[in-house]
Amino acid sequence: MGPDLPVADASNVSILTWKVVDGELHVRTVEGGLERVLRCVCGRSHWIVETRIQDGRGVLAVKCHGCGTAATLPLPELKVVRDWRHRIA
Ligand SMILES: [Zn+2]
Repeated sequence: MGPDLPVADASNVSILTWKVVDGELHVRTVEGGLERVLRCVCGRSHWIVETRIQDGRGVLAVKCHGCGTAATLPLPELKVVRDWRHRIA
């Protein structure tokens, strides 16, 4: 596991894969490739997650269950991966 990913930094990274583990959102980023927990400003990491195409690019749109903070994370390969062990690199 890498360090927590503060939501304030989330728009600066590109997401490779993501999954929900025990109610927390884990993402793996192009930068470093480590699995990190996306952490909200309120300290929680429980997000409403939606993938969508925005301005022709894939994004992972998240909104905190606790405080409503929202962010969009670049998701270059818009592909929902439930278990990245099966992902073909
Ligand atoms: Zn929050």
